[in-house]
Amino acid sequence: MLLRKAGQPLEMAEIPLRDPKVGEVRLKVECCAVCRTDLHVVDGELPDPKLPLIPGHQLVGTDDRGRRLGVPWLGWTCGECVDCRRGRENLCENARFTGYTIDGGYAEYAIADERFCFEIPGGYSPEEAAPLLCAGLIGYRAYRMAGDARRIGFYGFGSSAQILAQIAHSDGREVFAFTRDGDLEAQAFARRKGAVWAGDSNDAPPEMLDAAIIFAAAGELVPIALQRVVRGGVVVCAGIHMSDIPSFPYSLLWGERVLRSVANLTREDGAALFERLKTLRIETERARFPLERANEALAALRSGELTGTAVLA
Ligand SMILES: [Zn+2]
Ligand SMILES: [Zn+2]
Repeated sequence: MLLRKAGQPLEMAEIPLRDPKVGEVRLKVECCAVCRTDLHVVDGELPDPKLPLIPGHQLVGTDDRGRRLGVPWLGWTCGECVDCRRGRENLCENARFTGYTIDGGYAEYAIADERFCFEIPGGYSPEEAAPLLCAGLIGYRAYRMAGDARRIGFYGFGSSAQILAQIAHSDGREVFAFTRDGDLEAQAFARRKGAVWAGDSNDAPPEMLDAAIIFAAAGELVPIALQRVVRGGVVVCAGIHMSDIPSFPYSLLWGERVLRSVANLTREDGAALFERLKTLRIETERARFPLERANEALAALRSGELTGTAVLA
């Protein structure tokens, strides 16, 4: 499924399959989960995508040797810049991203740099594993940035939050879920995934939070979330794109509250998450779409009608 121009629907197309170069793997794609970032790419909210482009950065496939591998958003880094050398390859200025600046997984085949692929742990089917590759990985990075919060709020309860709620629960933390106003379906979904409380984004939780992660792309949630965290608390913006943040009184930040973003992922984040999954089984709710209906999957995510994660399979 090809994006020829931002703002247009994806087009089904046949393109020649190139041979992998040294260090690359060719994968027969088994499935690819849909991420909100795919929407930002398709809608033209992220600058300079490769065009034409095969979107998708949560793909699972088997390589020519029969190994089942997952390909995440971080597709290549230079290894030489200041950030790469400091162990912050997520900030590499030369990085390439799957389904954005290199072709991704909305396809029958994909080619990836082997060094950035993850082996899918046994016991996870391709469709169970796919949402872990971004919703899980970048979500886990955001979760770690939230520190040792006992009470943690999630603004936007979708693909990432359903995974993190289970991790937080197993860490003995309490999850408070905030959804679009009146989205009772999403609130019920959050409770199914272990949230102790679920409500509208403007609601005050029954207790102050130690940290909050904002998954929704809505900048107006930033001052709201700051208002809900205790002194010394952290608010993490987990998305790659967000609408403008309205100005707010300094008192919301005062008290050593921390506001930060999370950008991309490192391979270490992936290793840490997959290590964790050896002893914790994540159950995701998913909606399956055939590859050729990728536009419908994107539309369902855009409209907010989707519960859980869309997976193209
Ligand atoms: Zn670099
Ligand atoms: Zn993503």
